[in-house]
Amino acid sequence: SKKTVIITGASSGLGLAAAKELVKSGEWRVILACRDFVKAERVARENNFPQENYLVLHLDLAANSSVRQFVTTFRSLNIPLDALVCNAAVYFPNAHKEGAFFPGLFPGGGPRWSADGHELSFATNYLGHFLLCNLLLEDLKKSTVKPARCIILGTVTASINDKEVGGMIPPVADLGDLKGLESGMQKPTTMIDNGRFNGAKAYKDSKVCDVMLMRELHKRHHASTGIAFSSLYPGCIADTNLFREHYPVFRFLFPILQREVTNAYVSEEEAGRRLAKCVADPAYAQSGVYFSWGGESGTGGAGGTDAVENMDASNDRFLQYGSFRTLKESEIGGDAGDDARCKRLWEFSEKLVGER
Ligand code: NDP
Repeated sequence: SKKTVIITGASSGLGLAAAKELVKSGEWRVILACRDFVKAERVARENNFPQENYLVLHLDLAANSSVRQFVTTFRSLNIPLDALVCNAAVYFPNAHKEGAFFPGLFPGGGPRWSADGHELSFATNYLGHFLLCNLLLEDLKKSTVKPARCIILGTVTASINDKEVGGMIPPVADLGDLKGLESGMQKPTTMIDNGRFNGAKAYKDSKVCDVMLMRELHKRHHASTGIAFSSLYPGCIADTNLFREHYPVFRFLFPILQREVTNAYVSEEEAGRRLAKCVADPAYAQSGVYFSWGGESGTGGAGGTDAVENMDASNDRFLQYGSFRTLKESEIGGDAGDDARCKRLWEFSEKLVGER
């Protein structure tokens, strides 16, 4: 019988591309966990997903009540859960630039808020997934697939080490001393470090939190449950809807820059295959690790090495794009490598979602 994977934000971009791969394999039933039910149903049909291989369930990560409702609805279906992919995200790179040199060119608008009064990229990209992972842990534990997997999308700008070029481009992710979070992260507080609102930084911070979440889940639950928790950077998929709020010139030039100059560009299809490997391929079943791809072609690493072989490969090519590597738990650095901060983030997050 088929295995079941839940993918959040599977109605476009990477989530949809991975859903296509897994549906096509015939071995997986994909649950598209999406905020726009009609859109998700439409893309599934447009892509000829066979009825028996997919299901759309409503999930709005920007509302804790919706996350809880999603889990209740999923459980009512009595389907075992074998993998969870936390993929959905929003990015508001220009939200803080209102009234800059060219009024009207930047979307501006300032911070946006979740149903629970948290800054929207923090809520969607991180907090909603924190709650979802915690609730679905029970379901993953019951999976007969060993290991069940929980995969959380990171990104190169999440500064998981100090060697990635992407992590050095300002505004750099920085959680400070978590003052904003500690104070409850409620409107008008927007930033985890309690600093001034910056939409691009809010996104990067939220992705750092995602990698921290992965590490903390691994520490708390891997040994006792066997569930494999991992994170990944799929390469730069420069033309997804993630960049929908960037100004047109950026949206035009960014893919060209990534393709021609940095060599970090990867197509949606390729990135989808990479994510699908993290879900389904035995070579990507380690826990506590971070898979990082670049713009190289092919889903394996440079020279065709896969994730397991790559574990012991030298990681001295950090500054190069286009070289696949697996960062072991001990190689994940920055805030995400700081045990005490990961624990504090977890505890504050429990309070924010009312699980404590
Ligand atoms: P897209 O914008 O194409 O996809 C994001 C998905 O998230 C969409 O399906 C969107 O729904 C969904 N979503 C947004 N808000 C919510 C919400 N409140 N509840 C539920 N779903 C929501 O972006 P990508 O495919 O590029 O991004 C996917 C992941 O990959 C993200 O985690 C991103 O950080 C990561 N990533 C992307 C990179 C890139 O270069 N593109 C690089 C590194 C990491 P809808 O379809 O309704 O808009």
